[in-house]
Amino acid sequence: MKLSNFVSATLVSLSLLSSASYANIGSPTDAPSRPKNIVIMVGDGMGPSYTAAYRYYQDNPSTQEVEQTVFDRLLVGSASTYPAAVSGYVTDSAAAATALATGVKSYNGAISVDVDKRTIPTLMELAKKRGMSTGVAVTAQINHATPAAFLSHNESRRHYDALAQSYLDTDADVLLGGGQKYFPETLLAKFADKGYQYLSDFSQLAAVEQPKVIGLFAQVQLPWAIDEPDAQRLSTMTQKALTLLSQNEQGFVLLVEGSLIDWAGHNNDIATAMAEMHEFANAIEVVEQYIRQNNDTLLVVTADHDTGGLSIGANGDYRWDGQLLKAVQASPDAIATSAIAVDDWQSHVAQQLGFTPTEDEAQQLSNARMQGQKVLDGAIKTLIDSRTNTGWTSSGHTGVDVQVFASGPAASLFHGHQDNTDIANKLISLLPKKAPTASNNSAPSKSAAPAKVETEALLP
Ligand SMILES: [Zn+2]
Repeated sequence: MKLSNFVSATLVSLSLLSSASYANIGSPTDAPSRPKNIVIMVGDGMGPSYTAAYRYYQDNPSTQEVEQTVFDRLLVGSASTYPAAVSGYVTDSAAAATALATGVKSYNGAISVDVDKRTIPTLMELAKKRGMSTGVAVTAQINHATPAAFLSHNESRRHYDALAQSYLDTDADVLLGGGQKYFPETLLAKFADKGYQYLSDFSQLAAVEQPKVIGLFAQVQLPWAIDEPDAQRLSTMTQKALTLLSQNEQGFVLLVEGSLIDWAGHNNDIATAMAEMHEFANAIEVVEQYIRQNNDTLLVVTADHDTGGLSIGANGDYRWDGQLLKAVQASPDAIATSAIAVDDWQSHVAQQLGFTPTEDEAQQLSNARMQGQKVLDGAIKTLIDSRTNTGWTSSGHTGVDVQVFASGPAASLFHGHQDNTDIANKLISLLPKKAPTASNNSAPSKSAAPAKVETEALLP
């Protein structure tokens, strides 16, 4: 920000006025009180410091005001995220997604089963029973914990193959994300028998005109957004999912997940995390735009938990230079890989980082490079943290409350503080009370057979 002056102060008040009227567009007085469609969006690992950091990362430094982000526009409340007592106060993505999908707290690792491993009906299963369409669009594999808990049941999030198999019975209309590794040809043939179109290349998505579709665009998770700056994968998948699902007159429930915010948080990688936040923000704006044209659609956005204990400023220094991150050209992981491969690596790294390391910093990178890609990756992240003054307290999750954002009919239900299970219970209460008489939808899938209990490691 530059120093204040009268002109920019006037601009601030004008922008406040315009943002206030802008916010009203999302809740026109003629909107129905009960939504026909529900879009729930989860920023995996997106604790409150991520949305604040994203605001300063996005700030235009040539203006007096700090511009609002989509998160600032849509913020309505907060939510606690703790799992069932057996797992303490810090949740994993599986227990948190189970809470968001069913309204029931369970143990870390649970995929929509309770602490006694009994299956719990999910928002999407209940929506299906009432004749609605369902879909997921995510940047992780589609059978990762968050989408899995909305669609299926298993005593362990680690049972990726069983979860992939179980998706056959979910009758979901749109499945978009990564995960080719878990869907072998024999399984895809069964999806084809059920009328699914299978896509393995992102460019095929544009031509799809009708559900059902299963699009798997990577072996496991999609590449980092920072390494594919023009791909706009999540907003493209979100737009397509809205187009396909809205063909059902009975309405739809769509889950969109910015899955890799969490993965970047586990890696304590601020440059990659901010690019993932930007991709998620763009996807939210796609839904925001859809709601402006379809005032029967409710959007609720939240996070499942915080990851990494990100701090904006660190080490006693009152400073955060997130603007520097905009010049970073690739993930530290990718920069390290390319820097190992080239001789003139120092100028290459400077070009990729958008700044020239000092002599001391260059020496540290040089020492790290001699120890291989992984150590160099770590050294680059440490350098970026030091330049931006970014702090981290954990390579795992933390127990802070998360934010809740909403727009559209019944958005006011989500105002104020609530528990993550309340979010699910409110959404479930907004579903139509009865199945349409013409519906012949299948019942919710049966749970997987009980298998041996395993201790859950803290997975992404
Ligand atoms: Zn995680």
